[in-house]
Amino acid sequence: GGRGSTQSDMLQVRMRLSLQDHLWEFYQNNVNIPTQEQAMARKAALDICAELRVFLHAKLPDMPLREMYLSGSLYDDLQVVTADHAQLMVPLILEKNLWSSIPGEDTIMNVPGFWLVRRENLEYFPRNSSYWDRCMVGGYLSPKSVLEVFDKLVAGSINWPAIGSVLDYIIRPVVPSETLTLEIQYEMDRKLYVDFLPLLVMEDGTSLIAKPHRLVAERHENLWRQSFRVADTARLRALDQEDGGCRCTCLKVAKAVSKLNPALNQLNASQLTNAILLLSEKEGDWTQEALADRFLQLLRALVGHLEAGRLPCALNPKVNLFCELTEQEVDELGYTLYCALSDPESLLRT
Ligand code: GDP
Repeated sequence: GGRGSTQSDMLQVRMRLSLQDHLWEFYQNNVNIPTQEQAMARKAALDICAELRVFLHAKLPDMPLREMYLSGSLYDDLQVVTADHAQLMVPLILEKNLWSSIPGEDTIMNVPGFWLVRRENLEYFPRNSSYWDRCMVGGYLSPKSVLEVFDKLVAGSINWPAIGSVLDYIIRPVVPSETLTLEIQYEMDRKLYVDFLPLLVMEDGTSLIAKPHRLVAERHENLWRQSFRVADTARLRALDQEDGGCRCTCLKVAKAVSKLNPALNQLNASQLTNAILLLSEKEGDWTQEALADRFLQLLRALVGHLEAGRLPCALNPKVNLFCELTEQEVDELGYTLYCALSDPESLLRT
């Protein structure tokens, strides 16, 4: 008790107050992207998407695809720092009776959040009954092989200089690229990266994307990644709408901090979104005035999850969103965030 503790309490209150100001300042100056810049990036992505649709319809009329569409933070007002990337979703159509999905926890790999897609009924419907049989490896639909099909097309048979000159952009496939990415220069000093993301929507609504498991091992090569992005983002937005909350702002600040600090680059939008969703289950006050308190609480929660080596996905707690980090990465992230707890402002220096 006594005088000392009161003084240190006051000091803490003052620190929090100024952190609150600095977070909003950082948000305005470094995180938020001007509307005009977002609009230009969206337009460039849309132009490319339209060209690709025309090209694929003409060149490969038999390929069973649903209409491609653009998605990602650029379209949810969750992109930060610069408007420079988007995903082009490419939904494949699979015959229901020929393919089935097996959750990762029921396989020898035992990885919740990843799935195998197995070819069924080969005895009655032999190989090549399904268009996607060409991407079958060892009886399973291989995301790697699906990506290779698109890679051949996009990097090999599309005349990007010609399309680029019509649209007045410079377009080139990024090589080498583990995902399949186009670089579009749409202004002298502005570039946009568009990833091709093949997608399967299973009968029960589960979305699986062809984004490989990060810790590449041969036995992981056939795994499809379950995507929770649409549901996560909708949940976050709905919570903010109910109480006029600052969860999305908090997410954007955390994303920018992770993007601008090399030691935090391994943290991604999905991990940060889920950490905030989990925090929202315990913490009720997300008013704009509470941004600094919630931001600090988010850092503390992340340190805790890193110590445990586990960040459960809010929608499916069996999924560990840290499962693709190495032990060393977990330690480094934990250390950096732990240090930031006593000096959070250090994260905002750019
Ligand atoms: P940001 O890239 O950090 O701004 O975050 P996003 O929220 O845009 O997430 C994009 C990342 O999520 C990409 O690496 C995607 O591979 C991955 N992802 C997983 N599911 C989806 C999905 O349904 N749509 C999109 N656009 N990306 C997804």
